Amino acid sequence: MALLELKNVVASYGNINALKGISLSVPEGKIVTLIGANGAGKSTTMRTIMGLMKPKEGDVLFKGKSIVGMYPNEIVSHGMVLVPEGRQILQNMTVLENLQMGAYQRRDKAEMAKDMKHIFERFPRLKERQNQYGGTLSGGEQQMLAIGRAMMARPEMLLLDEPSMGLAPLFIQEIFDVIEEINKAGTTVFLVEQNARKALRIADYAYVMETGKIVMQGPAAEIASDPNVMAAYLGGR
Ligand code: ATP
Repeated sequence: MALLELKNVVASYGNINALKGISLSVPEGKIVTLIGANGAGKSTTMRTIMGLMKPKEGDVLFKGKSIVGMYPNEIVSHGMVLVPEGRQILQNMTVLENLQMGAYQRRDKAEMAKDMKHIFERFPRLKERQNQYGGTLSGGEQQMLAIGRAMMARPEMLLLDEPSMGLAPLFIQEIFDVIEEINKAGTTVFLVEQNARKALRIADYAYVMETGKIVMQGPAAEIASDPNVMAAYLGGR
């Protein structure tokens, strides 16, 4: 079953259509990636899914029901969470407070404590630094914190917008490892990336986007070995 489905989504900034009729589907339990160059419309796709922008046309279905018109917090409470581009952690709150913020809609205190413990086990650096301000962490640590914060909502579906952006190679590998682990533990993942090579390595299925349109799709391994994709998107790293 498709957990998330976009049907002919058109979205615009003023009269510029950034999404020109996007259709895609993310099956439950899988990792699906959306790759494409700068300005292709990847972040706009994420914003439209999360209710930060309203599509002009088309529909966004989560668990088979339209979520168009819902506020982002309602979408979170339905089980879908976004780790935004640039991480956007709260710089003047501690690591612990940032993580607690991720669970603000939950009431199951005991289960929340379990999730916190699990996050601290997976990211010992965050545990060590739990009382430090978020803004004092390195870029890679902030990305771990942003992912940890999202997981504190215990989402069924995790959206990640360019999680590897601006990170040192060592952190980039760590981030992709973490995404794979989260998926293996049962969370469906929709990953937007400019680092196509790494994204295709962990994804099951991929969509390639160019100026507001999906121009290619297929199993990630096939996309990764396509000579045209190689030339256009897999130059770096
Ligand atoms: P990036 O990797 O730079 O985030 P992207 O693939 O995520 O690129 P988007 O940010 O979704 O691309 O942008 C898609 C198009 O919409 C681009 O042409 C961009 O210039 C335009 N755009 C994005 N944000 C705005 C905005 N706030 N106002 C006007 N145009 C915008």
